[in-house]
Amino acid sequence: MDESGDQLAIDPKSGFCKSDSTFYSKRPGVALPRNLSLDLTTFISSRPHNGKVAFIDAATGHQLTFSQFWQAVDSVSDCLYEMGIRKGHVVLILSPNSILFPVVCQSVLSLGAIITTTNPLNTAGEISKQLSESRPVLAFTVPELLPKLAEAISGDLRVVLMAGGNVGNPVSSKPNLRIVGDLKNMMRKEPGEIRVRNRVNQNDVATLLYSSGTTGVSKGVVSTHGNFIAAMQTVSYRFKTEEIHIATVPMFHIYGMAAFAMGFLAIGSTVVVLSKFDMDEMLWAVEKYRATYLPLVPPILVGMINKAEEIKAKYDVRSLRTVLCGGAPISKDTVEGFAEKFPGVTIMQGYALTESNGAGSSTDTMEESRRYGTAGLLSPGIEARVVDPESGKALGVNQTGELWIRGPTIMKGYLGNEEATASTLTSEGWLRTGDLCYIDDDGFLFIVDRLKELIKYKGYQVAPAELEALLIGHPEIDDAAVVPFPDKEVGQFPMAYILRAQNSSISASAVMDYIAKQVAPYKRIRRVEFISSIPKNPSGKILRKDLIKLATSRL
Ligand code: AMP
Repeated sequence: MDESGDQLAIDPKSGFCKSDSTFYSKRPGVALPRNLSLDLTTFISSRPHNGKVAFIDAATGHQLTFSQFWQAVDSVSDCLYEMGIRKGHVVLILSPNSILFPVVCQSVLSLGAIITTTNPLNTAGEISKQLSESRPVLAFTVPELLPKLAEAISGDLRVVLMAGGNVGNPVSSKPNLRIVGDLKNMMRKEPGEIRVRNRVNQNDVATLLYSSGTTGVSKGVVSTHGNFIAAMQTVSYRFKTEEIHIATVPMFHIYGMAAFAMGFLAIGSTVVVLSKFDMDEMLWAVEKYRATYLPLVPPILVGMINKAEEIKAKYDVRSLRTVLCGGAPISKDTVEGFAEKFPGVTIMQGYALTESNGAGSSTDTMEESRRYGTAGLLSPGIEARVVDPESGKALGVNQTGELWIRGPTIMKGYLGNEEATASTLTSEGWLRTGDLCYIDDDGFLFIVDRLKELIKYKGYQVAPAELEALLIGHPEIDDAAVVPFPDKEVGQFPMAYILRAQNSSISASAVMDYIAKQVAPYKRIRRVEFISSIPKNPSGKILRKDLIKLATSRL
């Protein structure tokens, strides 16, 4: 039965409306469930599916059919309830991709508890900062990451192991980290006769994923069941039930979570899960599982073009129908290079943010992707304004300004940070994206630059403010600014401008080593220049654009 009940039609307008300076989606409208007492798990589990397999572990071939998956969710949520997990509790998932990751997500959500995630590559110090803010009462992790988690926590934390482990044994170095369950055993438990699902409604918080937004350090993005139900509805028209997807992008990030732990379950298609990205393993999995659909980020698309002959000699990738590419614009050379090397494969481009829960804009056909550099048409139900950053005036067609978006998928705000929330969300519900864009006559969005501080390394977020705080903590550094440096293989990497302290002769490599010891590998500073002063405006804000210009002028 479809539990979504009455549907509320949204998106009555289409195209640019002069009277309110708003761009409306040109995609066909979608309907949202009117029933406010609907929760995300019920919504997803009531959708039709391909009747076959929901998840396959690429390496072992282990599978979960749709019915096994939902039975496991019932069993695990029963166990979590018995452990005292209730609506509003935060549960951490610290794990690489696995077929168990979505089981945990749906079990936690079905109780009205809140998922928070962190990048397994983060250092214990970085994880610790996040935990002190999100305050999980339980964590799911894998044995390999247990020592890092033990180092990261300060108070008590109960842990469920996602594979193996000794239940009941505290981790020797940290008696306050207690292993209370083994997920595989929990999945085997006969679910109770009455399923313990609290009534959770669309306004309840579902996730706290981390993003630095337009400025400052990483913040918890508060998103609700309703946000994700809307996200599933607004993007679902693009996908077919019979597809076989390869999950390489990480599930701790909104891209992977919305797609693999939620979206394709709602579409009812099959997901083949790889624990981490590895080009060879990904292509091997495409051949083995006859995958049709590959979600990627642009540097990997470029990698596939460069190695196309080698790839085709080694693997049979003729089953591929679509690559879905997000995170950065794709150039004409990339689109045409890929089309030439892999004819018959459609490139779909997508633009979204953690704060918009996977909805934003997309190209849905090769013809649309051939408007080179476009991020596509606005997703159904998403409205946009292009706003002059100086005057705050809403602009029209083909004029460049900051992209503001509004719609049912937009987050509620940042956890415990009213200031950041108020500067990101307007009182009318617009999300200031911090991206510079224009929208053309036909409604296609072009992201041309980033106004915000964010650096994206292979799709991972790096917040300059975090690295700057570490840099100025060094006794031989008086001031510092971190900016993105463009790179073909990784997209961008962090580059630092350093003002040395008087009499210091600290070297570039010493600066890079100092940071490398404290941060996850993807956040490392990979280029350093020394400068006599960091350019700032009268209120002390770093003039990043000037530094970016300076950095790239020598390219
Ligand atoms: P995240 O919250 O990690 O998903 O990062 C969102 C940011 O990634 C956006 O605000 C953009 O700056 C960038 N981004 C995502 N998709 C695209 C795209 N298709 N084209 C250009 N930039 C993108």
